[in-house]
Amino acid sequence: MEGKIGVYICTGYGIAEALDIDAMCKVVTDEFKISYCKTVESCEQPVIASINEDIKRDGLTKLLIAGVSPRRFSVDMFPDDVIIEIVAIREHVVWCQPPNEEDTQMLAEDYLRMYLAKIKKVELSEPFQLEEPINKDILVVGGGISGITAAKEAAKLGYEVRLVEKSSKLGGWLAKQHKSVPTKPPFHDLEDTGIDTLIKELEEDPKITVYTSAFTSSISGAPGLFDVTLKSINSKPSDEILDQFRVGSIIQATGWSPDDPRKDLPYGDLDDVIRNVELEEIVKSQGRITRPSDGKEVKSIAFIQCGGSSKKDHHSYCSSICCLTSLKQAKYLRDGNSDAKAYIFYEFLRTPGHYEDFYRNTQEDPGIFITRGEIAEITRGDDGMLTITAKNTMPGAQIQVKVDLVVLAAGMKPNAADGEAIRAYEDAKLKVTEGESETQRQRAAETVEELKQHENTEILNLEYRQGPDLPALQNGFPDSHFICFPYESRRTGIYPTGSVRQPMDGVGAREDATGAALKAIQCMEMTSRGEAVHPRAGDKSYPDFFLQRCTQCKRCTEECPFGVLNEDEKGTPQVWATRCRRCGVCMGACPERIVSFKDYSVDIISSMVKAVEVPEEYDEKPRILAFLCENDAFPAMDIVGQHRLKVNPFVRIIPVRCLGSMNVAWITDAISTGFDGVILIGCKYGDDYQCHFIKGSELADYRGENIREKLEQMQMENERVEMHQLQISEYERIPEIFEKFAELIEEIGMNPFKGM
Ligand code: SF4
Ligand code: SF4
Repeated sequence: MEGKIGVYICTGYGIAEALDIDAMCKVVTDEFKISYCKTVESCEQPVIASINEDIKRDGLTKLLIAGVSPRRFSVDMFPDDVIIEIVAIREHVVWCQPPNEEDTQMLAEDYLRMYLAKIKKVELSEPFQLEEPINKDILVVGGGISGITAAKEAAKLGYEVRLVEKSSKLGGWLAKQHKSVPTKPPFHDLEDTGIDTLIKELEEDPKITVYTSAFTSSISGAPGLFDVTLKSINSKPSDEILDQFRVGSIIQATGWSPDDPRKDLPYGDLDDVIRNVELEEIVKSQGRITRPSDGKEVKSIAFIQCGGSSKKDHHSYCSSICCLTSLKQAKYLRDGNSDAKAYIFYEFLRTPGHYEDFYRNTQEDPGIFITRGEIAEITRGDDGMLTITAKNTMPGAQIQVKVDLVVLAAGMKPNAADGEAIRAYEDAKLKVTEGESETQRQRAAETVEELKQHENTEILNLEYRQGPDLPALQNGFPDSHFICFPYESRRTGIYPTGSVRQPMDGVGAREDATGAALKAIQCMEMTSRGEAVHPRAGDKSYPDFFLQRCTQCKRCTEECPFGVLNEDEKGTPQVWATRCRRCGVCMGACPERIVSFKDYSVDIISSMVKAVEVPEEYDEKPRILAFLCENDAFPAMDIVGQHRLKVNPFVRIIPVRCLGSMNVAWITDAISTGFDGVILIGCKYGDDYQCHFIKGSELADYRGENIREKLEQMQMENERVEMHQLQISEYERIPEIFEKFAELIEEIGMNPFKGM
């Protein structure tokens, strides 16, 4: 539906001084036969008000506004049922090109053509509405401080919560602690944990249902429609179901487990070398400190930070609480016996924020000796005492101390499973016997060996094609995008929180869990309005799969970064629309081109490509097409404009939702249209990735093989397509990338398809 289009060309912000506005209007009226073309002087409120009057009076259904960048312009000022396209004439043309030059004018006119071609094809996105009513209850998995806080905060806002805890008691690690580190000024005195009060409040809250000794034996569905089955933790697969219910979103607060450094250390077999968690248990149960080996009262302890682990095997992150715990436990010892001595050996002692005051206060105690030092040896003497030999200490020399007990500050490991690794492991197990060739069976056996540690590690038991749990990143934390939206996960509507997400103390866990409760609520509310959550928050489009033409190739199900698509027995994708983040990766994956959005499709982008006016070869004005990811590269281009950096005038930019949504057809269209080369710029990828859609830019790279094949079929040089990764702060690289590519094109020569 073309609709009634109104075009507005801004003459303010220096645009009219740099461009021939009449010529631009002619592109609209003469070339595109759209008679409704006006000029406006700004995008200030009176102008917006007059456009809104035009919409009402003249029945406009689509607006194209050529002026400031879409990132500087709020489309919320117009009615929801009007389609709006913004062309960044100011940032991408006027601010980065010399005024009143032929190439500058050609660039501005081409952008107008591209967006006019686009707006003709874009249709209004109707928000996705579920056929059944959306459920707005929340499931919290885990009953430690994070789970308790998330449940209470959500209940406070009026939401029903079901909390499932696998052990028989609530409270997690906090309930096992004797005291907490100080959380209030002057940060000197240990505090009660307060967990009993929190548990009581939770249990008395009429909006919260608690299940202990239970686990989620299956979770199917999607945001607004998660169907949960609970079983008793001690049950066999055939045992009775404890409960079944539906929730709208899920918070995973499964906490952490302590590392066990003893297994890798030469002194691991000494009975009186224990971990911080075990010391806590001793104090909590006995109110004093005794030795595990002989029950003797402990009068001296050596605390070894970072688990005393050799660096090679130790995880690379800081567990955030171990240093504080050792300081606290040293205080336990001293509070119980003023003659007792504590020695703390560290490589780094980390007490962030106000905890530094706690450290200073502890340091002032003459019975607590704190030094940098590397543990060389721990031996037991005939008297039963342990001798610690530490080298590279602060005094410089090697020192030895004799103690009753050694306590290792064991770090945190997230209680998370890696859903994708479990899925890969299960797939490989099948292939070991059912693989098509000996080589495939052999490879599968190697994968099984490599992923064996994931067997029976499921926690959530999601019925998702891409695995039963959230995918984990490096170090096993089920994070999503730690830079831009750390609260999200890669499964929409499921939010990890607390120390399963990253190491944190109790105070941090409470804040984190409050955030997770808000995210869980936000997801359900946005889902009920048919809107996407991060990073395309509020987007009402969603992918339409024309499944009659699906060949069951499974590429979309395998490549969707958010596990949106399950499959039926034949391999046809089953779309759970409310899981979708609208990245378009499935559109880029589908060889049949049967996936599209109302405002983003292979055809819409192809029309933009074909709308560019490509000069003849003898004009010696090459044309380069640049697909820029809308998350980093496209906004970086705005910054290029703001800094008035000069950009090659022969480049035409099209923003894409993600490089993973790129379809090879756009490249072939570009080459057939006469473009001399194509640049793709996406986010950085890798484990510490920046890609906002997790692996979109990586997929684009991996699919580069298809592009090369196409170019070969067209007898074109591979160099005509170049891919780059870029983060927004590297905006200065953009002019350089364009310039170097233009030089390369000059070397290779113009596209022979030009003018054909
Ligand atoms: S690939 Fe992206 S757009 Fe496609 S289904 Fe998955 S989340 Fe949605
Ligand atoms: S990528 Fe396309 S053809 Fe392949 S399974 Fe998905 S929808 Fe079907």
